[in-house]
Amino acid sequence: MAGYNGKILWVDLTTRTLTEESPSDDVYRKYLGGYGLGVYYLYKAMKPRCDPLGPENMLGFIPGFFTGSAAPLTGRCAVCGKSPQTGGWNDSSIGGYIGAAIKKAGFDAIFVKGASKTPVYLHVDDAKKEILDAKDLWGLDTVATEAWLKEKHGTSIRSCEIGKAGENLLTYAAIISEFRAAARGGMGTVMGSKKLKAICFNGSKKIDYADAQAITSLVKDYNQKINKNASDFGAILASNMAPKMGGLVRTFKIEMAQNHAIACRIFKNGGTSTATSVQVAVGDTPVKNFTGTYLDYPMKVVQNFVYEHFEEKGWITGHQGCFSCPVQCGNVMKVPELNLDRCQRPEYEALASLGAVLLNGDVLKAIEANDFINRAGIDVISTGAVVAFTIECCESGNLTKKDFECKAFPEGFLPGWNTPEWIMPLLNLIVNREGIGDLLARGVKEASKAIDKGSEDFAMAINGQEIPMHDPRKFAGLTTTYIADPTPGRHTAASLEFQAMGQLNDFVDGVKFNLNKKKRVEGGEHARFSMFVQTCNALGLCQFALTFEKYPMLAMFKAIAGWDMKPEDLFTIGHRIQVLRHLFNAREGAVKFEVPKRALGIPPMSKGPLANITIKPEANIKAYFKGLGLDETGVPVRETLEKLGLDFCIGDLSKVKGAPVPPFT
Ligand code: SF4
Repeated sequence: MAGYNGKILWVDLTTRTLTEESPSDDVYRKYLGGYGLGVYYLYKAMKPRCDPLGPENMLGFIPGFFTGSAAPLTGRCAVCGKSPQTGGWNDSSIGGYIGAAIKKAGFDAIFVKGASKTPVYLHVDDAKKEILDAKDLWGLDTVATEAWLKEKHGTSIRSCEIGKAGENLLTYAAIISEFRAAARGGMGTVMGSKKLKAICFNGSKKIDYADAQAITSLVKDYNQKINKNASDFGAILASNMAPKMGGLVRTFKIEMAQNHAIACRIFKNGGTSTATSVQVAVGDTPVKNFTGTYLDYPMKVVQNFVYEHFEEKGWITGHQGCFSCPVQCGNVMKVPELNLDRCQRPEYEALASLGAVLLNGDVLKAIEANDFINRAGIDVISTGAVVAFTIECCESGNLTKKDFECKAFPEGFLPGWNTPEWIMPLLNLIVNREGIGDLLARGVKEASKAIDKGSEDFAMAINGQEIPMHDPRKFAGLTTTYIADPTPGRHTAASLEFQAMGQLNDFVDGVKFNLNKKKRVEGGEHARFSMFVQTCNALGLCQFALTFEKYPMLAMFKAIAGWDMKPEDLFTIGHRIQVLRHLFNAREGAVKFEVPKRALGIPPMSKGPLANITIKPEANIKAYFKGLGLDETGVPVRETLEKLGLDFCIGDLSKVKGAPVPPFT
């Protein structure tokens, strides 16, 4: 056995017991790590159709198979469970150091079941594993929680935790670790329902490699290429010009393609925050809750929502990133105007959610809100969607000033477009579940059901999950992912059209896709891509790696685990994981097609880059299901389960339920 610990830890919060299990080598070979291992264990161990916020839901914290090794860009850790937002399978990826810390503590996964009656946290180091009282931590924000844990257990400890949002069961609560978030799908809510405030690790175990010399040489070679790419003169020039190129890219319909050097340079500099202006210009960023365009949110405003502006202001104080990553795409900032000594530089999703979607032109208000969101532990994408939904409800008269009466504002207030002064008061109501905040804490889908009166038109969520900051009308292929992937409303869930922006066919030797524009959108090739991406995710590989440089994935398998892998094995493993995720949803009765008409361009916009576009996703979804070996209702067919070695699920086929793909008119 090389490359992994061979041990997982089960934490039962009801009985307060800790049990170790040793998965067989076969389990690792079939599911690797991350949510691959997660879906295998949760499918087998979780009671079907359980309450997502009840003790029967389970929560997995599972580093990728390569996480903790020196393999570059593999620091990701999956957090899995049943989502309180979608009622189906959820996995959310967190970067930073928590995944490597779990591996160093001697485990390949932590699975939590049951629920505690009082607040607790999990502490694991080389000498002990213990469930400890967290009453002094309950109520602290995520930054204060990390400081408290370091004070108590030593500064080398790594933790992830919930803030007030998880404690108060906002359905879109996140889990945070050093400003990194497992944000999507409400995993912080599940953690809060178990009264689990934090998990923390301080181990010193090292990964045993099959060939340590080979891994050293592979890592050196890869990192040298990344550094060379990032210092390429042409790339430096292009990356400096990028924030100003929005109009040019739109006018000449330049494909949002990247080459390796430009991608490395941009990410090493200002990460995802460099391209906000281009994304607004071309119609990728939803403006004014998916009703506006760059004409409503002009370029001179967006230029303040990019990395270069933060740098000009002197706010950037350093880089931040994940374990084993030569890129370190995040930044930390000091913002004297907000009395913030240390905060995260907002990523693109945050800048769009707290900027363009709300027509907010005040970047300081966006930074302030982003810091609040990190500390309270909330999903920033869902938060932006909820605030935008609220604004539209106010605009349409569904909500009035009276609905916002509260302790801080007894006369009430009225959120509107480009009224950034009301973002923080509204977020405070939501996190504290005060007044109207209690309703908005349930997400846009549930809030629109309660408010009714046509407000469902403003609820930009697919199958319960608020839509990310990439407009489906811009990417028809991404629409398939948003609707049909087991984790709906997710831009990171393997859309060939969306993620083929880099040099995808130059990523792993022997792994090729048909990148013809039509094929990228159609469901069949999309299904193949989704198989491959599941494997990348199960390895803990950062998805940005797909754009940076050719990755020696097969050689890494050999050097780390001693396995001889072929390109087709990468597809088989990912196919197995993806099919099991789909089956999980079918078993939960969570195969759904709830899509707001606005997201599909019904009716189409009359101006801007998305004018006259209506997406018809039916055929692509059907082809995607077929490509994966699912039937027309999204349920795997028996032959697919047999082919992938998922025989243990065959007995469930008679009990599961899919849904036919409806006409989206
Ligand atoms: S590129 Fe960024 S998100 Fe990806 S592993 Fe590196 S630091 Fe983490």
